[in-house]
Amino acid sequence: MKLINLLQRTLAALFILLCFVFIADAQIIAIRAGKIVDPETGTTAINQIILVEGQNIKAIGADVKIPAGATIIDLSKQIVLPGLFDAHTHLCMNVQYKRDGGGNYYITTLLDSNAFRAIQGVANARSMLEYGFTTVRDVGNAGNYADTDLRRAIEQGIVPGPTIINAGRIIAPYGGQFQMQPDKPELGNPEYLYADTRDELKKAVRLNIHYGARVIKIVVDDQRYIYSVDDIKFVIEEARLAGLKVAAHCSTEKGARNAAEAGVDSIEHGLKINNETLEIAKSKNIALVPTPYTENEARENGAPGSYKETNEKLFIEPVKRAYKIGVTLVFGPDVGFTTKEYPRGRLSIETIDNWKEAGIPPLTILQALTSNAAKLLGVEKTRGALRVGMRADIIAVGDNPLDKIETLENVSFVMKSGKVFKQNSVIK
Ligand SMILES: [Zn+2]
Repeated sequence: MKLINLLQRTLAALFILLCFVFIADAQIIAIRAGKIVDPETGTTAINQIILVEGQNIKAIGADVKIPAGATIIDLSKQIVLPGLFDAHTHLCMNVQYKRDGGGNYYITTLLDSNAFRAIQGVANARSMLEYGFTTVRDVGNAGNYADTDLRRAIEQGIVPGPTIINAGRIIAPYGGQFQMQPDKPELGNPEYLYADTRDELKKAVRLNIHYGARVIKIVVDDQRYIYSVDDIKFVIEEARLAGLKVAAHCSTEKGARNAAEAGVDSIEHGLKINNETLEIAKSKNIALVPTPYTENEARENGAPGSYKETNEKLFIEPVKRAYKIGVTLVFGPDVGFTTKEYPRGRLSIETIDNWKEAGIPPLTILQALTSNAAKLLGVEKTRGALRVGMRADIIAVGDNPLDKIETLENVSFVMKSGKVFKQNSVIK
């Protein structure tokens, strides 16, 4: 082939390619929304149009003109709102209560390989998206960074799933959350990064960042030796240098106090947190991610009804106090199992019943599921609200969640980053 000929052909091919790119770019989706709920302000606007171009919201309002050729999605009988967040999940772990000694996840980690857990993560991520969760924070227990691979697979469009902020391996004092036995201490690995000294803490944070963590998760107090205020401050400083936030698992009051005084971004569980510590959390803008003890889990564990008292004491009671004091609440129910009948997304969203039971008003629950969570995860500029220029993470339900929060358990439409995943309750 002559050179000039080749050049002409190449230019022609390039031109055609550019045309396609242009057409694809110009493709606009127009959503007719019966109502739009803005969780941040608690307001509802009627008869709105949302224009979506590529990944982003291009326009939103009552007077927005629908351009010719736009794809129209009719949600005029629906209530539209930003996609939901689950800020405390473990996508790459499915505890099998019967097999694993009634929920001892040390056993789970011994029996399920990293590859198997990544596959479980794929199924769980898909389920989360199906139930309206467009962003999740995965707070560890993902073996040897199965969560990083899951995040990458979703980001590359290989599998569907929410945007993931993942923790990699949880950093904890020796033993993590396991009780090992001295002959076989290696059986605990690789699940946590044990870190007791300053050198170990620094190394653990850096290992996590290197292997793809987007948030640092520490377990403060699951052993008799716990992290001190200074330990936690040291971790926060090291994480901040790389722009990462710190989530702290706190099951005791002392652990929660140390985490609050050190200034973590969120206290996870906070089972025994007292009012003084809640006041510190409020003054430092530390979020509380409370985790319920659900009937779904009790049933799965072969003892229906048995979690009621624990839930009352360790979820409802502290959540009520935290709400009264004005601590920022973020939704993240810590679901660590899945069944055929109860896929991960369903198990997560159904825990809004526990929030209702605690007497938390619908708007606060909705903010915990959206705007508050977006701020905690550090994605509030792009996700967690429906505004021009932000990612088109959009869901729709049949009722106004400000009147009836449990309507969120039946999400009929899900769009993530401008791509429709579920429409008319059917996955696309
Ligand atoms: Zn957890």
